Amino acid sequence: MAITVVGSVAYDSIETPAGRRDRCLGGAATYFSLAASFFTDVRVIAVVGEDFGPEQEAVFKARKIDTRGIERAAGKSFFWEGSYLDNLNEAKTHNTELNVFASFNPKVPEAYRDSEFLFLANIDPVLQRRVREQMPDVRLVAGDTMNYWIKDHKPALLEMLKGLDVLLINDTEARMLAANNNLVQAARGVLAMGPHTLIVKHGEYGATAFFSHRSFPNNSEKPNHAFRAPALPLEEVVDPTGAGDSFAGGFFGYLASQRELTPATFRRAMFYGGVMGSYACERFGTERLQQLTRKEIDERFIVFRELTHLD
Ligand code: AMP
Repeated sequence: MAITVVGSVAYDSIETPAGRRDRCLGGAATYFSLAASFFTDVRVIAVVGEDFGPEQEAVFKARKIDTRGIERAAGKSFFWEGSYLDNLNEAKTHNTELNVFASFNPKVPEAYRDSEFLFLANIDPVLQRRVREQMPDVRLVAGDTMNYWIKDHKPALLEMLKGLDVLLINDTEARMLAANNNLVQAARGVLAMGPHTLIVKHGEYGATAFFSHRSFPNNSEKPNHAFRAPALPLEEVVDPTGAGDSFAGGFFGYLASQRELTPATFRRAMFYGGVMGSYACERFGTERLQQLTRKEIDERFIVFRELTHLD
């Protein structure tokens, strides 16, 4: 089943303890769609500037990602600059230039309208909501956001959250959004804002799903209140940029590839998220995801199982 995703397609300048890259292809929708494309068909909605050329387009095409919804506008593409020198789990943002995204009015192409899954990747919550409104009949809507939008765009963000089934954010963002430092209480607060399920990402420590009574209304299996999946301890983290979006791509891509959405499917999806997030960190930018194979994904899924198996 196809996923439509809206979010940033960007140029990133990144500094990590392993080195520096200037203006490499990035953006939340880019990482998400590369990761999800290993599981199902992906269609992207975004805007890029005149600096986005055939070389960048080819990265999407190589994974058969539908780019008909990527609009071209006069001006420069979204630009983000960040570093991870003190803490590999959290980016320090040095510069965010919305550029062509500042005046973007997303239109869902006719060819995307039969998508059953919608992912609102990190971007202005006003844009996320506009896309959500154009796709009222999707089966499952998930989304992401970040401190940038929580801090200065809270009213628009709260409106957007009302249209979500599943929210994926990192733990600092969950605490910030709910204005509560206790993660369990913060999760409860976030679940009251709209989404029935919250996935909190903990960087190198994995991710926790918080379910509510609304998560599986038609399922007799009683969902756990929470489920924790590990991250893979990596020998070297070259660049954590996009790990969260790749987690989301693996998670949502796997869900979209399954016939039934049960607590067990969600738990497995969390592991596939971890697999994709860990691969994303192994090289700068999208390099590792571009070279990845489905066989490597399945092999690492087994490593994840072994990591947590008791008997
Ligand atoms: P993450 O998965 O959280 O590491 O996301 C990294 C990506 O988010 C980078 O490729 C950036 O281009 C993108 N990004 C950074 N800031 C923003 C923002 N305010 N809105 C949308 N995308 C952003």
